[in-house]
Amino acid sequence: MTGITLALSKGRIFDETMPLLEAAGIRPLEDPESSRKLIIATERADVRVVIVRASDVPTYVQHGAADLGVAGRDVLLEHGGDGLLQPLDLRIARCRMMVACPEGFDYASAVRSGARLRVATKYVSIAREHFAAKGVHVDLIKLYGSMELAPLVGLADVIVDLVSTGGTLKANKLVAVEEILPVSSRLIVNRAALKLRRAEIAPIIDCFAGALAPV
Ligand code: ADP
Ligand code: MG
Repeated sequence: MTGITLALSKGRIFDETMPLLEAAGIRPLEDPESSRKLIIATERADVRVVIVRASDVPTYVQHGAADLGVAGRDVLLEHGGDGLLQPLDLRIARCRMMVACPEGFDYASAVRSGARLRVATKYVSIAREHFAAKGVHVDLIKLYGSMELAPLVGLADVIVDLVSTGGTLKANKLVAVEEILPVSSRLIVNRAALKLRRAEIAPIIDCFAGALAPV
């Protein structure tokens, strides 16, 4: 038996996945925040956790390097979801994908004018689809972080980013002007692994399902 590999990212997703893992008797033997190890054994000899960048989780699971993973809906939409099953919305790491702009910017007029809107974002696919559906012409500017800076220094008119409390927007005098979609993290499973090793994997999914927060 080869055992089950679960791909997780550090921080919010790892922390909020812990109670669900607990329900399946999966207790990691090290804390990824303090350990530099990327493969972490658990109290279950048949389950290990691998620590990867949030946006890389679907890639590991798609290729079968991990059997299971936890990834945000944002990351899954950007990835495309090829080869992945998404059996559970884990209802963790909840936030909203929003359009935001500087406090004084007239977003409604900019969208109506027919002129091109300059949009800075890490989420190029989600942004492209959102504005295409509205019939708004956009120049997409791909960034990897600190999106809030872009409109402040003239790189873009608006940003598309995840918002939870709005604290970061407020600190940079930005306002959210449109919601694109609600985001939470999903359990993802390699399609072939579930087929070939259902007896090992299905009980883990069931334990997670039984431990979800109420809707
Ligand atoms: P990275 O820094 O590697 O891009 P983050 O740790 O910021 O990743 O985010 C990982 C995942 O957590 C995101 O893909 C998203 O689903 C979720 N997330 C990001 N920001 C928030 C937030 N403010 N509130 C709740 N969940 C969030
Ligand atoms: Mg981050």
